[in-house]
Amino acid sequence: MAQPVKNMKTPFLPLSTLALFALSCNAPEPAANEELILGFNTEYLDSSHSACDNFFEFTSNGWKTQHPIPATEGRWGSFNILVEENNAKLKKILEGLEQKTFEKGSYQQLVSDLYSSAMDTVSIEKKGMEDVDFLLQNLSLSSKDELPSFMAGLKKRGITTPVSAYVSPDDKNSLMNILSLQQSGLGLPDRDYYLRNDAKSLDILLKYEEHITRMFRLARIENPESHAAAILTLEAKLASIQMSRTDRRSPELTYNKMSREEVAALMPHFNLNEFWDGIGVNVDTLICGQPEYMKGLSKIIEETDLAVWHSYFQWHTLNSFTVSLPSAFRDEHFAFFGKTLKGQEVEKARWKVAISLIEYGLDEQLGRLFSDEYFPESSKAIIAEMVENIRDAYGERVDQLSWMSDETKKKAHEKLSAFTYKIGYPDQWKDYSDLNIEAHSLLINLQNIREYLFRENMAKAGKPVDKTEWYMGAHVVNAYYNPSFNEIVFPAGILQPPFFNPKADMAINYGAIGGVIGHEFTHGFDDEGSKYDAQGNLVNWWTEEDRARFDTLSKRLVNQYSGYEALPGEFVNGRMTLGENIADLGGLTISFHAYMKSLEGKPMPAVLHGFTHEQRFFLGWAGVWQVHYKEETLRDRLITDYHSPGNFRVIGPMSNMPEFGRAFGCSAPSLMQKPKEEQIIIW
Ligand SMILES: [Zn+2]
Repeated sequence: MAQPVKNMKTPFLPLSTLALFALSCNAPEPAANEELILGFNTEYLDSSHSACDNFFEFTSNGWKTQHPIPATEGRWGSFNILVEENNAKLKKILEGLEQKTFEKGSYQQLVSDLYSSAMDTVSIEKKGMEDVDFLLQNLSLSSKDELPSFMAGLKKRGITTPVSAYVSPDDKNSLMNILSLQQSGLGLPDRDYYLRNDAKSLDILLKYEEHITRMFRLARIENPESHAAAILTLEAKLASIQMSRTDRRSPELTYNKMSREEVAALMPHFNLNEFWDGIGVNVDTLICGQPEYMKGLSKIIEETDLAVWHSYFQWHTLNSFTVSLPSAFRDEHFAFFGKTLKGQEVEKARWKVAISLIEYGLDEQLGRLFSDEYFPESSKAIIAEMVENIRDAYGERVDQLSWMSDETKKKAHEKLSAFTYKIGYPDQWKDYSDLNIEAHSLLINLQNIREYLFRENMAKAGKPVDKTEWYMGAHVVNAYYNPSFNEIVFPAGILQPPFFNPKADMAINYGAIGGVIGHEFTHGFDDEGSKYDAQGNLVNWWTEEDRARFDTLSKRLVNQYSGYEALPGEFVNGRMTLGENIADLGGLTISFHAYMKSLEGKPMPAVLHGFTHEQRFFLGWAGVWQVHYKEETLRDRLITDYHSPGNFRVIGPMSNMPEFGRAFGCSAPSLMQKPKEEQIIIW
C-alpha cells in the first residue's frame, strides 16, 4: 500500500585533508568538556566487546538490553524511538484537531476526519457484514472479456491486480512524465515466498492458504478451502514468471519504451486498450517494465478459469480493505501478516494504525501539521551547510580516486554540482480541496483517497515533471535520493536525535545525519544511480574502462556482504543490497572527510567521555543502528529489503575504512578492519 511513485527512489532506511587529519596526533591534551552534549549515550556501551572486535555489539548491546522489542513490533531500533516520538506528537495534533471544525477540503479537515473515521471502530463493528457485502457485491464478472475493464476498476480503488500502472519521470527524458506498466498481483511480499522449497517457506505458504480460507469463511463465502487452494496456485504461477527484486533495480532490464500497440501485442488474451480506457489514460508510448511477464500473464489469463479469477479478486478486495472491516477480519489479518510473517505478538494500538493510514493517503498534509509545530527553522541552515560541506568533500574525494580517469571525473563533478536538495518540508503545499473525506466511513474514505491519488498520478502522463514535488511526508523518519531529479531530500522528521541534534557535538552529527546525507549523495554514484547523468537522464557518462573498474570494485562489495550470515544458514543478498551498501560505504567515508574539513582553522575538538572526535564520528553512525529484530521480520527483510540488516550497516562500511582502523587503533585482519589491500574504497 503506497502512493504510486517511481520505484527507483532510494530511501535511507526508504549514507582534506589527510594532512590536517595527521595533525590530530599533536593535539593538546584533552580537556574534559562535559558541557557539550555528547549526542551518544555511553551507558549503552558493552564493555565485554571492544570497538575493534565488533563495533556494532560494542555500541548496541546496552541499548538492546534496555530496549527489548515491544510485543507490537518485529524490529526495534533507536530510529523507532524517534518514530514513536513523532507519532506521539502527531497524536496530540490529531486529537487537538478533533476538538475544532475546519473548512471542508482544508488540509486540517481532511486529516482530522480521516483520523476520526479510522478511530471509529464502534461504527465499523456496528455495521458488521454490511461493508463486506458491499465490497463483494461489486465484483460480478461474467466473462473473461470483461477482465481488462474489471481490473482497471479495481486498480483505481487500490486493489491488487496482476498488473500495476503508474506515471513517473521518463528515465531518458527527466523533464517529462511517462506511463509505465509493471508486474504485480501477489498477496505475499515477494515472488520468492512462492518459489522457495525450504521447510520454513513451505510452512508460510501453508499458513497463507489457511489465512485466505479463514478470511473467506468470515466473509461467508462457500467452499473457502477450494477457493484458497486455487488462489494460491494462481499466485504461484504469477510468481514464477515475475522478474526478481534484484533485477528490478536495473534500468537496462526495466526501461522498455514501447508503443501502445507493441505492448498490447504481448498480451493477445488481454485487451490492454480496454484496460487503459477503463483507467482513463490515453498515451501512444509507455514503459513496459517486464515484457516477458506480460507475455506469460496473457497465457495464464487464457489458461485460468473465470471462477478462479473471481475468487482471486474477492481475496484481494478483502485483503486491501481489511483495516476498515470488523475486528474478526482485522484480527485474522494480523494473525498472518503480523504474527506469522513478522513475528509481532500484539497488534499496534488503533491510533497508530490510524496514523499510518493517514500517512499512506495524506502524507503531505500530515507532514504539514507536523512541521508547522515541531520543526525549528534554524535546523535548515545547519543541514544546508552540512550538505554543502559534504558536496565539497565528495568533489575532493573524486579528484583523489586512483581508479577513475580524468575524463569521467569531469563528468562526476558535473553531476555532483547539479545535485539539488530539499530540507524540512515543501515550499508549496498541494491542494486537495476537492477530495471528499467524511468523519463516519473509513471504507468510503479509503476508496475516495485511492481513486483520487490514482487519478492525480495518471493525469501526469505525458505532462512536464514538477520538480517541486516531495515523495515523502515532512514528519517521516527517512530520506531519499531521486535519480530523475538528481536530488536528495531530508524531511523534518529525520532531523532530530539520534540523527541530528543542533546542541550536540558535531562529530556525532557528522557521523549520524552527515552519514545519511553522504549516503543519499552516493546513491547518485551507486551501481544504478551512476547510470543517470547530471540532468537525471539515463545516459552513460562513463568511459568503458572506468565502468569496468567500478564494476570490479562493486563485485568485491557484493561478495563481502553475501558472506554475512544474518540468520543460521540465511545470508545477506549482496547483489540486491549493493546500491545501499555502496551508499553506506561512500556516505560514511565522505562524511568523515567533510567533518575533518569543517575543522580546518579551528581548535582541535576535545576528548569527550574518553572518545576522540574521530572516534565520536563513528559512534554517531552506530547510534543510528542500535537495532534488533524478531527472527521472522529479519527473514522477511532478507528477501524484501534493499538495505542490509543494521549490524552489517555498521560493520560492512567500517571494515573497509582505514579511517576507522586509525581512529580506534584496530589491527587487521579482523571483523572490523580488513587488511589494507583488501579494503574496498569506491568513493
Ligand atoms: Zn539508501
